[in-house]
Amino acid sequence: MEDVIVENPPPMYQLKDNLRKRGINVDYICAVCNSAEETDEHLFRDCPIIQRVWACGPLGIQVGETTPPLQTWTHNLLRYLLMQSSYQGCVFMAVLWAIWLHRNEVTFGRATSNPCRVIALLNESTSRLKDATIHPRTQGACYGDSPPHVSIGCI
Ligand SMILES: [Zn+2]
Repeated sequence: MEDVIVENPPPMYQLKDNLRKRGINVDYICAVCNSAEETDEHLFRDCPIIQRVWACGPLGIQVGETTPPLQTWTHNLLRYLLMQSSYQGCVFMAVLWAIWLHRNEVTFGRATSNPCRVIALLNESTSRLKDATIHPRTQGACYGDSPPHVSIGCI
């Protein structure tokens, strides 16, 4: 298996702390929980709402109190999950994507914060992943493993 290299990723998202560092005046509080500054580490891992998503999602990830920088955390988890199966690695990325989509829904007033909504977005993505595994040559990224039966609910 090849190593997953995540060094100096391009700025693919504009979190509020990045905008503020550029001098753009924005409300920098996390729209998902309204309790902390929105940084990448907070939004994707440390936010109490998002920690519930990680815990009750298909990967059952419990975010510990002592955590490395987000880049190291994602790198290590993704590497571990890809050793299990490419499908699990894809699910991990789908969780990150669902978090980002829900953050945008809440930030732009299209939804209120709700971890069940993140799970619903995740279910939509994993449903497409299953289709991709069925037709790997035409659908793309995930192949080689049969997806496990995934039953995702929200407590
Ligand atoms: Zn938050």
